[in-house]
Amino acid sequence: MVDSVIEKVRAGQRVNAAEALELYRHAPTPVLGRLADDIRRRKHPDGIVTYIIDRNVNYTNICVAKCNFCAFYREVGSPDGYVLGFDELFRKIDETIAVGGVQLLLQGGHNPDLPLSWYEDLFRAVKERYPDFKLHALSPPEVVHLSRLAQLPPETIIQRLIAAGMDSIPGGGAEILVDRVRKLLHCYGKATSDEWLDVMRHAHRAGLRTTATMMYGTVETDEERIEHMMRLRDVQDETGGFTAFITWSFQPDHTELGQQHKITEATGVEYLRTLALSRIVLDNFDNLQASWVTQGGKVGQLSLAYGANDMGSVMIEENVVRAAGASYCMDELEIVRNIEDAGFIARRRNMHYEVLGGPIFRERDVPRMLELATARDAGDTRVPEELMNYPARSRAGKQLRVVPHNPVS
Ligand code: SF4
Repeated sequence: MVDSVIEKVRAGQRVNAAEALELYRHAPTPVLGRLADDIRRRKHPDGIVTYIIDRNVNYTNICVAKCNFCAFYREVGSPDGYVLGFDELFRKIDETIAVGGVQLLLQGGHNPDLPLSWYEDLFRAVKERYPDFKLHALSPPEVVHLSRLAQLPPETIIQRLIAAGMDSIPGGGAEILVDRVRKLLHCYGKATSDEWLDVMRHAHRAGLRTTATMMYGTVETDEERIEHMMRLRDVQDETGGFTAFITWSFQPDHTELGQQHKITEATGVEYLRTLALSRIVLDNFDNLQASWVTQGGKVGQLSLAYGANDMGSVMIEENVVRAAGASYCMDELEIVRNIEDAGFIARRRNMHYEVLGGPIFRERDVPRMLELATARDAGDTRVPEELMNYPARSRAGKQLRVVPHNPVS
């Protein structure tokens, strides 16, 4: 049967779930790669591979969701918990702009002590200072969290955040969009599959473009990976609002799930097969990112032969994947070297995948960045002063608001 499915893909026809499973299980890896590469070439015949210069900022690590695959979060009241101040975020934006960056990818924990007004004030303040700078902000589970906190429907939260300056929603928190898996990952409570997809529908209807992701390699079956892709494909048929799909493997280090279930990270070949399959199944997605942040630069580069047409982000800062043990870093020069060495033309893009130009470092001097920055230096326990202006929900948060606090300088 696999041969007939291969022929079907070669003929440019859509595959169903059973056919996708047949390919995933039985197509030889080079054949799967070739099918995906042909689709990539049909969609992007110009030989351009894009990337974006942005900064992956996590505004807080305090989270009540407690997903068991996450090594990043801290519980409410933890001495290691942090919330970044508006000034810290402005400094990060200044540094991003200095190296040619155009946006923040802004995501964080589900912190009960940050009300909707904190986000609105932050977004407005960013837009006032940096009118052209983009906010790719708050994944669907964060929108669901705010919806519960503010007791407003997700579509209202989205409208209010758009009015404050949100430009796009990142596709984080999707994990696997099958509720059986979400329950096992302790992330069903933060957002069910339907809730995640509904936030994206609302965002698309409100005129935003968003991304979609998949984290595989935990407790899901092959069938469930494919079901995830099918659900994304259905929403894309409906709205056309997804710009790109990004998949990566679960990073098990320092996670409850990794320790309890002795899960080892999926291999590079499994990543490339999953990427190639997603290019085949997601025939209505234009862009697929290579996840070099989890797979490293070398597999990231190989991704360009397995369906990817985008090298993702230069990134500048990363906290979540690093907490789970992966700490790859590529600055613009290194990303461009990998793209060009693979035979492609490297181009900078914006969040809508529109080309902005060639590499910045060929236009002007940009400092090399050989290590990704972190949200904060270790031991920095500053509490931002403006936090005192917002009502807290947790007991620890309330105490912090009344006890005079001496910020560490
Ligand atoms: S993955 Fe996100 S929502 Fe889940 S515990 Fe980590 S920070 Fe919280």
